Amino acid sequence: MIRNLTKRTLLAATASVLLGQAAFAQSYPDKPITMIIPFSAGGPTDTVGRIFAQSMTTYLKQQVIVENVGGAGGTLGAARVARSEPNGYTIFLHHIGQSTAPALYRKLSYNAVDDFTPIGLVADVPMTLVARKDFPATDLKGLISYVQANKTKVTYANAGMGSASHLCGMLLMSAIKADLTTVPYEGTGPAMNDLMGGQVDFMCDQTTNTTGQIKGGKIKAYAVTTRNKVASLPNLPTATSAGLPGFEIAVWHAMYAPKGIPKPVADKLQAALQYAVKDPMVKQKLADLGTEPVAANRATPAALDQFLRSEIVKWTRIIKAAGVYAD
Ligand code: ASP
Repeated sequence: MIRNLTKRTLLAATASVLLGQAAFAQSYPDKPITMIIPFSAGGPTDTVGRIFAQSMTTYLKQQVIVENVGGAGGTLGAARVARSEPNGYTIFLHHIGQSTAPALYRKLSYNAVDDFTPIGLVADVPMTLVARKDFPATDLKGLISYVQANKTKVTYANAGMGSASHLCGMLLMSAIKADLTTVPYEGTGPAMNDLMGGQVDFMCDQTTNTTGQIKGGKIKAYAVTTRNKVASLPNLPTATSAGLPGFEIAVWHAMYAPKGIPKPVADKLQAALQYAVKDPMVKQKLADLGTEPVAANRATPAALDQFLRSEIVKWTRIIKAAGVYAD
């Protein structure tokens, strides 16, 4: 009897939670959603985030507002999201850094997998090796020998430990066996301003930040870091063909919410992401910046969950072998 009552009470409680969730999801979203970007405004992650926010705003009929929470290679923004209320009004767009931070940071206030609800992958973006306009080298081989000859006199801008620019720089330094002086920023948006102003020598950054400046002749470009050339920058060779065989890195971006959001809300966000990756506006804007949204079957929670876990394993191995840590 008691057992039956307990069972009935449990069933009733579960039903009321589900009904509550369904009612909540039906009105969701009834106020603006904040999309946290863990880097400065004007940078590549911000650019991708704003394009997706615009498309999701159309689908959800509710404003998706970008908030930039930069610092510590993206980990400050990620920590903020992990602590946010799981109600669907805070979402997160980050990049490959979600998978590198667990190995790079000895103390991380969040778990990159367990504290987030995966929504889906968003876009893979090539990187470019770029320098201030009056940097002496004219091609990648020239850049490599200049850096090897001048080592720590050369300054390399990045977006902090664990950022894509940090990773690319780390791989470059190990490939050419030269230590550079790194200058960290809260994002490569402000780093790009200093590169254009000649305050730093060079950096490696996503095409979503560099395409306009390369085309406008405001910076020098040496190579793209993907296996194939990018259509929007047809004159730029791949790093492999220009002197760094096998030097490949593409930056993946993905969308998350805090862990524990109601399933129907997660489903709605997932539908909005599916809409965005097929949206012609998104495709056009990304094409202009040398990339494209992921295929719809990668813009799913299961694909992101599996990919994130595999990326953590991959980067932990590489980072441990390089012996790089943040405190
Ligand atoms: N592209 C930057 C990075 O190096 C971050 C950003 O500003 O989006 O990770």
